[in-house]
Amino acid sequence: MPRQRTMSTTKHQWVYHDARWARLREKALKRVGWRCESCGVDVRGKYKARVDHMLAVSEFPRLAFELDNLRVLCCDCDANRHSEKGGKVRVKIGLDGLPIGGWKS
Ligand SMILES: [Zn+2]
Repeated sequence: MPRQRTMSTTKHQWVYHDARWARLREKALKRVGWRCESCGVDVRGKYKARVDHMLAVSEFPRLAFELDNLRVLCCDCDANRHSEKGGKVRVKIGLDGLPIGGWKS
């Protein structure tokens, strides 16, 4: 009898299979001029850019396709970001599931 696969580690992966994601990702890249928002390096080219959700999709699924919730990073900065968890964005979320008072603190 096959065991059921647990979804715990790939809970938010559905986003990247959604037709909207590819377009939104490109929009985010264009908006920042195809540069890493952290170090400014050019991320043009395959596998160079990481488009990241500032507020995790697992916690805020409603913001999965929100352009303002995306951040463009190069591979290096993305790796750094995940190793240190201190850089988390703090945004107050209202009852409607959207940030209160905009994105910048
Ligand atoms: Zn970078």
